[in-house]
Amino acid sequence: MSVFGVLTLWAVSAFGQASDTMLQAKIFAANRVERTRVGNSFAIDMVLPDYVVVTAPSNQLEEIKKLGFAYEVLKSRGFPEADKEYHTYAQTNDELDALVKEFPGLVQKVTIGKSLEGRAMNGVRISSSSLQDSLPTAIFVGCHHAREHLSVEVPLRLARHLAANYSKDGRIKGLLDSREVWIVPMVNPDGAEYDISTGSYKWWRKNRKNNGNSTYGVDLNRNYGAYWGGEGSSGSPSSDTYRGTSAFSEPETQAVRDFVRARKHATVLLTFHTFSELILWPWGYRDESISDEKDRNVFETMGKKMATWNHYTPEKSSELYLTSGDTTDWAYDELKIFAFTFELSPSSLGGGGFYPGASVIDPVVKDNIEPALYLIENSKDPYAVVGRSHIDPLGIL
Ligand SMILES: [Zn+2]
Repeated sequence: MSVFGVLTLWAVSAFGQASDTMLQAKIFAANRVERTRVGNSFAIDMVLPDYVVVTAPSNQLEEIKKLGFAYEVLKSRGFPEADKEYHTYAQTNDELDALVKEFPGLVQKVTIGKSLEGRAMNGVRISSSSLQDSLPTAIFVGCHHAREHLSVEVPLRLARHLAANYSKDGRIKGLLDSREVWIVPMVNPDGAEYDISTGSYKWWRKNRKNNGNSTYGVDLNRNYGAYWGGEGSSGSPSSDTYRGTSAFSEPETQAVRDFVRARKHATVLLTFHTFSELILWPWGYRDESISDEKDRNVFETMGKKMATWNHYTPEKSSELYLTSGDTTDWAYDELKIFAFTFELSPSSLGGGGFYPGASVIDPVVKDNIEPALYLIENSKDPYAVVGRSHIDPLGIL
């Protein structure tokens, strides 16, 4: 049996095992026959004259040497030079750790679960109250979709803005003394890292699930458990909107689900995406509006109010197009949380689409501070925005 036959047999059996840490590596394969043999078992990311680049578990790569193939692990190259201001997974974690260290008693680290490839899904809880889940709670999450890197920057920098201004800004102090803010900036770390692993963007959207048919990835924002499997999601594993094999089939959405469920006083949630400059609310899965008139008014009032600051277009999600299994439909459907999606800047593909450059980070963060503060403020009683009697009629808090 040739070395290639051995490799194929071995790799097929290895795919059945739990995956080890995923690495990107060069495998030296100098001709079409060798490349084909590698390609039978590995998803080839790139073909160069004397090697191919693959992404595979480290245990599989280690075996390659024994089979006569030379390989070389490629260090993740991170963001292209011009976009170095964006945070990689490691840099995001470093920043979260830095906040915890700089603001003791205010910022606590949280890990809500692990991604498919074993990366910790980290975030922070920001509140001066030491009693967890005791106060009105606002949740912010980013980066369900890998290539939407700006959706990491906004919640991450919101965390620093809140923590750094606690001692300087009476309004922020008041909010953090009476509310809990939870921020998880990178829900899809595997995808985000994969997107930047070669030093140039891959336009990757989904997580890194091996679907078993030479396709990878489940669309995490079609994998939630409310109205899963409906319009605006795909049953085809190769599709960018592949919904997965069942609702909450992915560890990343399971982690968010369990995390949100555990926040007993969560009333508002904001999930950041890019791009188009939109403020969206349920329903996404059907054309009809939310049937509860009071809730519908709260969504519309909040959405339109936030739009006065960031100048995005506020609308019911399905007015854009139908989506089923998204975060906001689930959070409202199951937990009655007022959950919004922001599609951040730019407004169009022509303005840079998913990769608008580093110069937009600061202005886009600034545009969204006031909407975030508004949500945190109204987490105490979202119905107050439509004038319903509430527990703070004088607006002191
Ligand atoms: Zn998205």
